[in-house]
Amino acid sequence: MLNVDLHCHSTVSDGMLVPAEVAARAKTNGVDVWALTDHDEVGGIAEAREAAGDLGLVFVPGVEISVTWGGETVHIVGLQIDETNETLVNGLFATRTGRERRAQDIADQLAAVGIPGAFEGALKYVGNPDLISRTHFARYIVELGIESNLNDVFRHYLTEGKPGFVPHRWASLKDAVGWITGAGGVAIIAHPGRYDLTELGFDAFFAEFKYLGGAAIEVTTGSHTVDQYDYYAKIARRYDFLASRGSDFHGPGESRVDIGALPPLPDRVVPVWHNWRL
Ligand code: AMP
Ligand code: MN
Ligand code: MN
Ligand code: MN
Repeated sequence: MLNVDLHCHSTVSDGMLVPAEVAARAKTNGVDVWALTDHDEVGGIAEAREAAGDLGLVFVPGVEISVTWGGETVHIVGLQIDETNETLVNGLFATRTGRERRAQDIADQLAAVGIPGAFEGALKYVGNPDLISRTHFARYIVELGIESNLNDVFRHYLTEGKPGFVPHRWASLKDAVGWITGAGGVAIIAHPGRYDLTELGFDAFFAEFKYLGGAAIEVTTGSHTVDQYDYYAKIARRYDFLASRGSDFHGPGESRVDIGALPPLPDRVVPVWHNWRL
């Protein structure tokens, strides 16, 4: 059976390894088919493709787009995109703008609760100045010894109702799905189990995503529990979505699941790669 990992990050967004290092780790871990899916950025794809080619990995160009839907932030992964597509590139550029301003506001809020210098502190972890993310702040808060891991940081800071949460308007669902499909790609709902939606909210979200041309959901992901693998397999069958598998790896010792280390997709779902030439 092929080891397929279609979701992970490099220093081009909030990962800890450069794209070629992520490729090497995928190879070491036995991955056969690998996608790099940096947040709102395709700038790592050229390096990733080349490294994957040298290692004999099947490479899938990808992206993970930040979206605001129904007041929630959700993530939409695009795979098999033409990363040079102008509408996609311009859309991602627009989605990234505002991150620096937001980061200053995050730093101001953290300063107000006794964590000074967080903007500069976060920047030390940033590989791409266009993409300052909450992850970089979280690493700085761990560095200061205020929390011992990222999960604890996000329980006490940077999330709704906690210091360092700055609401932000990302791309619309319609735009994100349109940019992906317009660039020849397939749109996938990332880690649905992470969203704070009611059952009715999820139904509306899935229906709208499908209506807009979305095709798949992540079923097996580092962000889901084992129970959620089965639950989202059921959802994939119910809504006739293809199923994806991706670790959401960000860095060694930081991510819950390493690249390529997830269990296979549950039975009776159709993998998103079923019609790819591999
Ligand atoms: P941003 O795009 O700046 O809002 O940052 C979002 C990123 O924060 C996600 O892509 C994750 O990498 C990270 N993140 C969010 N929640 C958590 C969490 N509970 N534990 C670890 N990382 C998280
Ligand atoms: Mn991330
Ligand atoms: Mn995500
Ligand atoms: Mn991700």
